[in-house]
Amino acid sequence: MVLDNKENSVKCTCPNCPSYNECMSQKTELLYCAKEKTSCEVKSDGCVCPTCPVYAENDLNRMYYCRTGK
Ligand code: SF4
Ligand code: SF4
Repeated sequence: MVLDNKENSVKCTCPNCPSYNECMSQKTELLYCAKEKTSCEVKSDGCVCPTCPVYAENDLNRMYYCRTGK
């Protein structure tokens, strides 16, 4: 389980992701792997989760957490 905390939020690479859009940015959403999915519409333009430190540290194995939630 990924902890929903400041430390992990700072590491989250979602803002650098091609699928991260204006809607998500305006809601300042982050750390979807520890939260519910976004209410924004998301086009699957790639997912950079596998390059994120939180991904490795928590042995994650999925992608597009913004669409599925934790
Ligand atoms: S969960 Fe994956 S696809 Fe969604 S914004 Fe973050 S890095 Fe991009
Ligand atoms: S694994 Fe994806 S959703 Fe989770 S912190 Fe990293 S970039 Fe964000």
